[in-house]
Amino acid sequence: MLRLHVGCPHCDTSFNDPSHLIDDFPSILLKMEVDGRKGFIRLSTLYGSYNLESEFPIPQGSLVNLYCRSCGKSLESTRKCDLCGAPMAKMKLASGGYIQVCMRKGCKKHVLEFEDIDGDLQPFVDIQLMD
Ligand SMILES: [Zn+2]
Ligand SMILES: [Zn+2]
Repeated sequence: MLRLHVGCPHCDTSFNDPSHLIDDFPSILLKMEVDGRKGFIRLSTLYGSYNLESEFPIPQGSLVNLYCRSCGKSLESTRKCDLCGAPMAKMKLASGGYIQVCMRKGCKKHVLEFEDIDGDLQPFVDIQLMD
């Protein structure tokens, strides 16, 4: 199974946190803000895994703004989700290029789920929920 090594597009800090595992691998630790509420969120680094942990429950349909835990900058990109129009978050792949995820919880282009990375050296890669 493919594992994602992602980091901050601003400060290059790795988001992988070996001290806390999801799916038996280091989680992706980020800061989030949902409806003005701030907390931590952890995503799985495993391609195709929908597992996540968040400091508080995220209501379906909410926008989950993601921030680097090191430099604190927003991961929001200029790109919008073509399914729901929400902003997308951009993360840097250690292998080169970026991944982008929709920041709306429950969207088909789910913020917390990864889809096919077709050639992982493309500068931009769309992530979609596999249904
Ligand atoms: Zn950063
Ligand atoms: Zn969306």
